[in-house]
Amino acid sequence: DHPIHARIDGAVVMIGFGSIGRGTLPLIERHFDYDREKFLVIEPAEKGCAELRERGIAHRQVALTPENYREVLGEVLTPGAGFCVNLSVDTSSLDLMRFCREIGVPYIDTVVEPWAGFYFDTEDNAQRTNYALRQAVRDEKAANPGGTTAVSCCGANPGMVSWFVKAGLLQLAQDTGRDAAAPADRAGWAALMRDLGVKGVHIAERDTQARAEPRPRDVFVNTWSVEGFIAEGFQPAELGWGTHETWFPENGHRHASGCQSAIWLNRPGAITRVHTWCPTPGPQFGFLVTHNEAISISDYYTVGDGAEPDYRPTCHYAYHPCDDAVLSLHEMFGAGRQQTVHHILGEDEIVTGIDELGVLLFGHEKNALWYGSRLSNAETKRLAPDQNATGLQVTSAVLAGMVWALENPSAGIVETDEMDHARCLEIQTPYLGPVEAHYTDWTPLQDRWQHFPEDIDESDPWLFRNVLAS
Ligand code: NAD
Repeated sequence: DHPIHARIDGAVVMIGFGSIGRGTLPLIERHFDYDREKFLVIEPAEKGCAELRERGIAHRQVALTPENYREVLGEVLTPGAGFCVNLSVDTSSLDLMRFCREIGVPYIDTVVEPWAGFYFDTEDNAQRTNYALRQAVRDEKAANPGGTTAVSCCGANPGMVSWFVKAGLLQLAQDTGRDAAAPADRAGWAALMRDLGVKGVHIAERDTQARAEPRPRDVFVNTWSVEGFIAEGFQPAELGWGTHETWFPENGHRHASGCQSAIWLNRPGAITRVHTWCPTPGPQFGFLVTHNEAISISDYYTVGDGAEPDYRPTCHYAYHPCDDAVLSLHEMFGAGRQQTVHHILGEDEIVTGIDELGVLLFGHEKNALWYGSRLSNAETKRLAPDQNATGLQVTSAVLAGMVWALENPSAGIVETDEMDHARCLEIQTPYLGPVEAHYTDWTPLQDRWQHFPEDIDESDPWLFRNVLAS
């Protein structure tokens, strides 16, 4: 009783069979009509390949590199048909999508990933930002508009959260007695956010998934790619910089070119704490880890000129990963070296918890609205195999993005902000557990420590100066 959403002719090629690849496969099997003999995985690691062998799934055990990707992909993709689903680390999203578009193969990924080496070998911190990575994709879109659809950054976040921003705005419009019809274009959405008085958006996440045993020392434990999380955690913190901000961080830097929607801080995101709010914990610390959506959302909702906007929301990630990951970060930054043993919590070892991932739209007449998915691992196991709750929020977004791409085959390079949020959420929501809207009267000025002076500005609770923890 799983609906078939579309037919895919030609080869369906998945790059990377890690936690997200494993979880995406059963959703592709359920929801697409395609030739099973033409499904193939490109995966270098023995662990993934052993499982693929056991399950009789065609694969190539090879790491894509700048030198071989055209040859390897050229051999396995079907020009003008099929699909390329990139769920790997250490491969250049830009190069892969460019090649797929050249040969007319629809493409999707969940992050703007660079080739191996970028995250730690690049000297200049401005160059190590997601702003730089994203801008290169936006420049490619501008230079080559239209053409075969390539969906950039379509996971949970970046990805699904951009659809939640739109759903949350319509909810807020309705609850404040305004016209709650969806605007027709980007300018309309940006005007709606401005008119609702939204000053900014936290991508506010609390992951409470846990296993029974305590975390062993010297093991980095997470609920999704450890490699991916460490890489982004060591990038500079980045945030979309809103027009309501009256102060500028001492370690803050703007960009001289591009959309100019974001700034970066000269400090790793995974040790930059912010005050935020989620339904389960209420007020909590989150880490301001850089993410594509912080930049894309603030760009999409800009009114006026990029460098001197009339309106723009502040936007950033505020991530409380699972408790074992918090301890892992603490250990890693304290020791000044990465743990060599990595572990992703599997759905069968997790004994409790949910991934609560949503958007906190703040600063408006109803103060703040959290809109998001509160998916438990237990419910995930009933909904789909081979993944935990974090995984399913990502893989179901990949599913939705693939369907949208097949329904819109010549849309060119798109980000999730630019897609039909209602159609995508229609496909994805059956996999998201409770999707809820919660208003709160909490502000970053509440529940502070009384005994120590802080660098805050009480004239507007929602200034980033107050959100940033000292
Ligand atoms: P993972 O570490 O579990 O798996 C990554 C896989 O890529 C591994 O199996 C690895 O062997 C493979 N790989 C490494 N180098 C490769 C190469 N050169 N060529 C081909 N494959 C290669 O990671 P994951 O949790 O499955 O995440 C996959 C990707 O999805 C990551 O880039 C991650 O950042 C991204 N992600 C996005 C979201 C989101 O919400 N947008 C969420 C989770 C993960």
